[in-house]
Amino acid sequence: MTPRVSELPIHLARPFRIAHGTSTIRTNALVTLGPARGEAGLPPYLGTTVDDVATWMSRVQLPDIPDDGPIPLEHILEGLPDGPPAARCALDLALHDLWGRRLGYPLGTLFGLDPRCSPVSFVTLSIPDDLDELARDAAAFGQHDRLKLKVGTGDPGRDLEVVRIARRSTQALILVDANGAWSVEEAARILPTLLQAGVTIVEQPIPADDPDDWHRMRRMLGRTAVPALFADESIFDVDDVIALAGAADGINVKLAKAGGIAPARVLIALARALDMQVLLGCMIESSLAVAAAAHLAPLVDFTDLDAPLLIRDDPFRGVEIVDGRVMPPDRPGIGVEPS
Ligand SMILES: [Mg+2]
Repeated sequence: MTPRVSELPIHLARPFRIAHGTSTIRTNALVTLGPARGEAGLPPYLGTTVDDVATWMSRVQLPDIPDDGPIPLEHILEGLPDGPPAARCALDLALHDLWGRRLGYPLGTLFGLDPRCSPVSFVTLSIPDDLDELARDAAAFGQHDRLKLKVGTGDPGRDLEVVRIARRSTQALILVDANGAWSVEEAARILPTLLQAGVTIVEQPIPADDPDDWHRMRRMLGRTAVPALFADESIFDVDDVIALAGAADGINVKLAKAGGIAPARVLIALARALDMQVLLGCMIESSLAVAAAAHLAPLVDFTDLDAPLLIRDDPFRGVEIVDGRVMPPDRPGIGVEPS
């Protein structure tokens, strides 16, 4: 069985603006392995392309996988070569999909999880072009319990105004994602104000370059009350999580950063051991990658799996949003079908 790589274009329903830039289309990588599939979300900041995924995949020597019956998933995953996390993620997902299909159960069921125990997902608003538009959107999204606001306009004062407008429009629990837009000094200034403005969580306030910056930011804040601080772009592997222990209150785990389901489960367990909270997020991805993450959602404190709501031509179907929870399909493996 040989993994095959192809392009998976994803069109956004509207331009998606964050501190890293604006996107209207993303090209992810699709990996097929017999009947099974995996996806690599490829946001520009990862620096991984579909060609990189294909190059890595061409170096992978999978052991012979029999045509039916259970497959030794753990042993196969352990033998994979090092490479870009998104590429490893796509193959990890395809292998998990194949494993679940062979055993005849959804992945979450095989992990002993009940999708009804998943946290309600955040719904994301990208950086608004004008503040009136934000007020309208925030009011429309006010029906949701959890709202994620992208900030990082380059002007911390305007970022604060974005938060205040949203706070007036909704009762939702608010998470602010700065995508690393503030310096340590700016973050130390703005974070206490964000707590007063009614923000519960701030994600990646500072750039991801140096874990010591997180500890420096904590020292500057001292005992000042601030929202819970979660690391996203700063976290890829176990070493990153350990480096932020005592400085970050939580981590954002994404399959494409971690390298798939197996390493994501390790990060979740490690965060728990270090008394950190876990947000399970996603990239701009199709329902294939989002369903894979949704199977793990009962393990975490928060989810941000609303990508299917942000795209207009989802190549896969089967993910449903029930009472704000992103529910994976009740079918073997990852469980999605082509649209
Ligand atoms: Mg983020």
